[in-house]
Amino acid sequence: MDDYYMLLKPSPKALHKESKDDFWVLFYENKMMLINKDGKYIIPRLRDLLDLNIQPDHVQCIGEFLGLNCFCGEMDRRVETKNIEYLDLWTLSKGDKQIYTLAMKGNLFLNWLKLNKHCGVCGSPTYIKDSFYERALVCSKCGNTTWPRTSPAIIVAVTKEDRLLLVYNKQFPERKYSVVAGFVEYGETFEECVKREVYEETGIRVKNIRYFGSQPWPFPNSMLIAFTAEYLDGEIKEDGEEIVHAGWFTKDEIKGKYDESISIGTRLIEWFIETH
Ligand SMILES: [Zn+2]
Repeated sequence: MDDYYMLLKPSPKALHKESKDDFWVLFYENKMMLINKDGKYIIPRLRDLLDLNIQPDHVQCIGEFLGLNCFCGEMDRRVETKNIEYLDLWTLSKGDKQIYTLAMKGNLFLNWLKLNKHCGVCGSPTYIKDSFYERALVCSKCGNTTWPRTSPAIIVAVTKEDRLLLVYNKQFPERKYSVVAGFVEYGETFEECVKREVYEETGIRVKNIRYFGSQPWPFPNSMLIAFTAEYLDGEIKEDGEEIVHAGWFTKDEIKGKYDESISIGTRLIEWFIETH
């Protein structure tokens, strides 16, 4: 994965004295507030919040970014000035990688905090644990602790000589064809999940499962773990529920059939095209 993910040093507490230059990843109704400066988006600083009289809610520290503190929070009202814009995550994913990375993290943290305002055991309010190392919410009454959770999902490029297995999922008509993907069940290894998902969706059994890479996927709150695998046996038989068509495609047949996005699924297809 590109090294821009490394530019942010995660920390649940501010690592530096608060400054008017600190970065603020602010959301209003799941859209990030950005300042449009001469056609270029910039992340607001604390001084911008003070100028605009913004008092964010659900505030958390994301960590250190470019040597400064970076916080996230939610706005209780939509501030309208001529150079302020609000962009959703999907739109941001197609733009500046640094801004997208911060937006993704801020969005995940805010959703986590909002979903865990109350303890899942006794229903009492939770508070953010006072720690530099551990991001956690603790119940004010029973002490139950909740950490950020993510839902793992596998995604796999299955090859058969010069062909790639692609599926058409009726839930995502706008995304065209894609490689097989699915959520990991409790108690299942990633490799078992690869075998199960490919078999369930297409009737194909696979071998030589190899790790390819991973990608946080906040649509919503998932982690994609990507693999390559080879055809073992079986005839294509779509599950008929999710998958309405599955087939083997050569690299020439793939062109124009898949969605070119930032998803690691696109990288798997591009890997196949480059290597076959
Ligand atoms: Zn509790």
